[in-house]
Amino acid sequence: ERGKHGRPDWLKARVPGGEAYREIKETMRGLSLHTVCEEARCPNIGECWNNRTATFMILGNVCTRSCGFCAVLTGKPTELDLDEPRRVADAAKKMGLRHAVITSVNRDEQLDGGAGIFAATIRAIREEVPGCAVEVLTPDFKGRRESVQTVIDARPDTFNHNIETVPRLYPAVRPQAKYRRSLEVLRYAKELNPEGLTKSGFMLGLGEVREEIIQTMQDLRDHDVDILTVGQYLRPSENHLPMVRYATPKEFAEYRKIGFELGFSHVESGPLVRSSYHAHEQTEDARRG
Ligand code: SF4
Ligand code: SF4
Repeated sequence: ERGKHGRPDWLKARVPGGEAYREIKETMRGLSLHTVCEEARCPNIGECWNNRTATFMILGNVCTRSCGFCAVLTGKPTELDLDEPRRVADAAKKMGLRHAVITSVNRDEQLDGGAGIFAATIRAIREEVPGCAVEVLTPDFKGRRESVQTVIDARPDTFNHNIETVPRLYPAVRPQAKYRRSLEVLRYAKELNPEGLTKSGFMLGLGEVREEIIQTMQDLRDHDVDILTVGQYLRPSENHLPMVRYATPKEFAEYRKIGFELGFSHVESGPLVRSSYHAHEQTEDARRG
């Protein structure tokens, strides 16, 4: 079962390539934009980019937080780039995107946590690429309701905020976050726009156990979350939290089934799943559901 580098075969990354992939890479560099697809060395990059889905990382590439699983640098944040929304929309247009995911680092030093730039980015894409679905994957904005409102007022198709792990593991996995606060952010987003979809996700392999996983899924449903994503944690480096285990494809399939039973309208669960994987299909499915 183990392939090269000691990873199970089901986690072998595919080599990125193809026409669309190269085109998008050039566009990103030309506009000095960052994508999670590249920075997280996401194994799905070839598939997603060729399917015209990409995840932009706005608000810089330095984070004010230090989550134990995350490869993004922690430190003093960069200047806010007020022109970024326009460039993201420009890139989305050039790339002919069908589904744009906008995410960011945490900007805890900003009063609004960067919500204003999120909203401006959504609006800019709406204007430039009318057919493109827009999904935001936001920080918790320290639970600040005005910031959630600012983002929702720009009417994203999907509001995503990842819970990342079970509450017991928060001190190591998300030391500056609070489990309940993240749940509240999700509920508030739904309250503000019941027609919009809400979405969240977590990783397996950090030491969580089955009962905790199911409880977390239940908690998300209790806060009206529509779409769930479940993926495998992969340790970015020796300085990050150790990976406790590889969950098997069978377990992922089981959580998918449980998720549907709990009432999620779409569940994406598998070793290579990232929150934006198959994002376009997730949205369409959840809309139908
Ligand atoms: Fe990019 Fe998300 Fe696709 Fe990975 S799964 S390539 S981060 S859009
Ligand atoms: Fe990474 Fe987000 Fe945590 Fe920052 S808040 S360290 S970007 S996961």
